[in-house]
Amino acid sequence: MNPLLNQDPKLYNILESEIDREETTLELIASENFTSELVMKLAGSVMTNKYAEGYPGKRYYGGCEFVDQAENLARDRLKKLFGAQYTNVQPHSGSQANMAAFLTFLNPADTILGLDLAHGGHLTHGSPVNFSGQIYNAASYQVNKDTGRVDFNEVLKIAKETKPKLIICGGSAYPRHIEFEKYREIADTVNAFLMADIAHPSGLIAAGCHPSPMAFCDVITSTTHKTLRGPRGGIIMMGKDFENTWGKVAPKSGRVKMVSELLDTAVMPGVQGGPLMHIIAAKAAAFGEALEPDFIDYAESIIINAKSIAEELKTLDYNLISGGTDTHVILIDLTNKNITGKTAELALGKAGITVNKNMVPFDTKSPFVTSGIRIGTPAITTRGMGVPEMKIIVKWIDEVIDNFEDDKILSRIKSEINNLCIEFPVYRH
Ligand SMILES: *Cc1c(COP(=O)(O)O)cnc(C)c1O
Repeated sequence: MNPLLNQDPKLYNILESEIDREETTLELIASENFTSELVMKLAGSVMTNKYAEGYPGKRYYGGCEFVDQAENLARDRLKKLFGAQYTNVQPHSGSQANMAAFLTFLNPADTILGLDLAHGGHLTHGSPVNFSGQIYNAASYQVNKDTGRVDFNEVLKIAKETKPKLIICGGSAYPRHIEFEKYREIADTVNAFLMADIAHPSGLIAAGCHPSPMAFCDVITSTTHKTLRGPRGGIIMMGKDFENTWGKVAPKSGRVKMVSELLDTAVMPGVQGGPLMHIIAAKAAAFGEALEPDFIDYAESIIINAKSIAEELKTLDYNLISGGTDTHVILIDLTNKNITGKTAELALGKAGITVNKNMVPFDTKSPFVTSGIRIGTPAITTRGMGVPEMKIIVKWIDEVIDNFEDDKILSRIKSEINNLCIEFPVYRH
């Protein structure tokens, strides 16, 4: 019996319920995954006790010799994983990583140019409800109405009009490869910095299943908990650590700094205090796992599964943004099915399928209702499901959409899903 039961039965019950939910339902949220038990063990380890403001070898606290080792290990593994020259593993989340990158490359009121939130972008790429849209002057580009893909002629046109200091590529609901090289051409044309936010495809990039931003982008940010399958957190990387030549000179020394130094100070003390050393240790474990050859098989399977779901959905007359996927993400426009994203999310949830409602490009509905849902394959692929299961899952999704008001059908599907899930345990081996 778990000792937590005696100490805090309320929390024990909550935890057991969550384990139950994760084991018995289909997790199709594209930004979620199941970490290994090793990653979880480290995330729940004694390193949570340690204050370590600063960086390895340069801390503001004593007793950091072992957390230093953990952070150095995380950085070295991350460098190897992506071929990066500079890494920072301290950001508490993807949003903090983006905030630190902005603080490094921008001054307040500078112009940024990112993918429109309703077209697959992220809150931190310039949304008015986020710091990025409040502190900076945010412009956005959209996807092409016919192709559902980023239209680079359009990006160039907007970049020339708005003259951004920083262009952001990447997003949360973009099913296709991010074309870093094309963004680079535009950034060079308008003399802007280029930031890649690879929060979603980072695991696919690490495995070589998606183009890499390293050679093309001035700075790269990511989460560690999506396709990368690590603990909840953020990272910052640079392919090359170059000397800061745009005038942010250290006031005291007058010495021109390396960009890596500016990024480090932007993370701490710029936007954060003490790093989460237990999470950094867990990141090191996850990067170690991603360096293993079988992580490539995992990433390949994620994409094979997503493509299989996309093809099956299309045969059932589902309208997919961009007509399919290159990644783990599928964005479905449900307009022709006469159901909103909100209603679909709710009905699928009742049947044991977890998805999120999502705006589709040129959506006429509000973000609380939406015309679409986003689905993704990282989590179900981690539990070992493959193409045969994808076909069954699409059949269930379609049955739910067709019968969203029929609770009997929804609960029948839920028990069928429960049976499938028992065959693919996550943690209850
Ligand atoms: C998930 C995500 C983030 C940040 O996520 P957090 O929830 O702050 O960790 C940033 N950018 C993109 C594109 C994302 O998808």
